[in-house]
Amino acid sequence: MQDIDQKEGQAVLNPPGLAERDKAVIWHPFTQMQTAPLPIPIVRGEGAVLYGEDGRRFIDAISSWWVNLHGHSHPYIAEKVARQLLTLEHVIFADFTHRPAVELAERLLPLLPRNQSKVFFSDNGSTAVEVALKMAFQYWHNLGKPRRKVIALEDAYHGDTFGAMAVGGRSAFTAPFVPFLFDVEYIPTPVPGQEQAALARMEALLDEEVAAFICEPLIQGAGGMNMYEPEVLDRLIRLARSRGALVIADEVMTGFGRTGKLFASLHLTEQPDLMCLSKGITGGTMALGVTTCTEAIYEAFLSEDKYRTLFHGHSFTANPVACAAAHASLDLLLSDETQHHIARIGRRHAAFTDRLRERSGVKNIRLQGTILAFELDAGGQTSYFNNIRDVAYHFLLERGVLMRPLGNVLYILPPYCMTDEQLDHVYDSIRQLLDHLEG
Ligand SMILES: *Cc1c(COP(=O)(O)O)cnc(C)c1O
Repeated sequence: MQDIDQKEGQAVLNPPGLAERDKAVIWHPFTQMQTAPLPIPIVRGEGAVLYGEDGRRFIDAISSWWVNLHGHSHPYIAEKVARQLLTLEHVIFADFTHRPAVELAERLLPLLPRNQSKVFFSDNGSTAVEVALKMAFQYWHNLGKPRRKVIALEDAYHGDTFGAMAVGGRSAFTAPFVPFLFDVEYIPTPVPGQEQAALARMEALLDEEVAAFICEPLIQGAGGMNMYEPEVLDRLIRLARSRGALVIADEVMTGFGRTGKLFASLHLTEQPDLMCLSKGITGGTMALGVTTCTEAIYEAFLSEDKYRTLFHGHSFTANPVACAAAHASLDLLLSDETQHHIARIGRRHAAFTDRLRERSGVKNIRLQGTILAFELDAGGQTSYFNNIRDVAYHFLLERGVLMRPLGNVLYILPPYCMTDEQLDHVYDSIRQLLDHLEG
């Protein structure tokens, strides 16, 4: 009896922290739960800074997995979301509609390449890709000329659901599922030096069986922030078009200003047939996915025949609160102030890039708009090479900078509100990391 009382007394005196309680009940994404350190409880966010339960602060240099545009807990977005919550929190989107969705589609389309004509809502980036793939396959099905092949880029990442995984590059992440993924043909990612190989492979693979060519325009995100030029993508698109293939631009990461323009596709001469948007669409506040398409694709589904319908939808399709967050984020994004910040971050990155070029431990520096990436070169120090990612991650975290290197690729993908002082702290911490690695 006394024993139990003592234990209970201890539990009251020393209750488990949030991290321990998390460990007891939660399974985290992309995390080996056996070896992962306890997660860091975050209690608050403001601007580019996240505040830990233990008083630590972190500059969010990766926009919380590439979603945040204007800073955390932005009061303007919060107010619009709160107002929408008190007006209409959700409504079925089949046979019903609402102003936030209609006006969001009306606002989005003029910002996209001119040929985009219709908006289909879902609730995340993977589903936006699934919808684009289903639209592409069923387009050919409805035309009575079924096509079954998809061409994608090596190292592509399009999400974690099955269709999105299928069109992504094959890696350790997809290995257990390969038997269940539909076949996809890959061309090399046309990074500098691989353009001709990519074009030649595209030409060799194209035939009347190719339903679609899918890519992350200009920047492959999860594949390692690989960057390539609009000219070569224009040529790949023209080739795909010449054999009738539809072009899907997955702008889930590149959309909403990251590349310096509102969308990466706006750097191109050619226009995609389908586009996938998510992540930054709500400023990183809520989950929302969008697939847009041309009028020609939409019309291939119009019929008296019910079998030509796109039978796809999600419970939270076009959630009004998410749409309200997207409106608020667009208000901020299109403001002169934010456009000024996007240009400012690009200039600051470019100046830091010049400093990086002087370092021996750095290679393959690349910059597009607000995204700066480079590779850590461990040189001969193979002991570092295997865990260079973890060394860099923890080194930066200890200095209050949240970055998540992709292998040996370090990148900065900041919310546009990040101040010059905060950027300087990120750059300085990287300099210290390089000093440490060169040891
Ligand atoms: C993150 C990402 C996705 C998947 O989006 P989720 O919302 O995580 O499902 C798809 N495509 C690209 C290019 C992405 O970066």
